[in-house]
Amino acid sequence: MTQTTAPTDSPRPAFRIGHGYDLHRLEPRPPEGPGRPLILGAVELEHDRGPVSHSDGDAVLHAVTDALLGALGEPDIGQLFPDTDPQWEGASSDQFLLEAATRVGSAGYRVSNLDITVILERPKLLPVKDRIRQNLARLIGVDARLVNIKGKTHEKVDAVGENRAVEVHAVVLLERV
Ligand code: MG
Repeated sequence: MTQTTAPTDSPRPAFRIGHGYDLHRLEPRPPEGPGRPLILGAVELEHDRGPVSHSDGDAVLHAVTDALLGALGEPDIGQLFPDTDPQWEGASSDQFLLEAATRVGSAGYRVSNLDITVILERPKLLPVKDRIRQNLARLIGVDARLVNIKGKTHEKVDAVGENRAVEVHAVVLLERV
């Protein structure tokens, strides 16, 4: 792993806000095999398409990881876990978020709350929202009531609306411990 860190003389305000964004292209899964399944928030969804990705393509975990790193002013997920590194080929994205959460604690902060919007044409997110919430809370080490997830469609327009991509936005607030 790249040992890149923020400057040690970084200021430590009482609160820090971070935004994370991710998009993965969704491709039909090959008929001869399962292909890469669609995984969001460490939950596998039933879908005839899967993400094009170096790692497992979990756009929720990627966006949340970047929100935490962004709040800290640390290098982003692509810098810490480059998609040119064979170490991360097919990797479970849990470890990316765990690393970001560790950095939050090391910097002397904790998560106040986390709000996520998933934009996906299908399937509906509602049946798995609570599982995603529980997974995120466990990985970050916070009460699940501090994690919120909203599911939206893209109203059938553009790539996301045509079911050719999944898009995720995440906003996090950190408070100084
Ligand atoms: Mg990603």
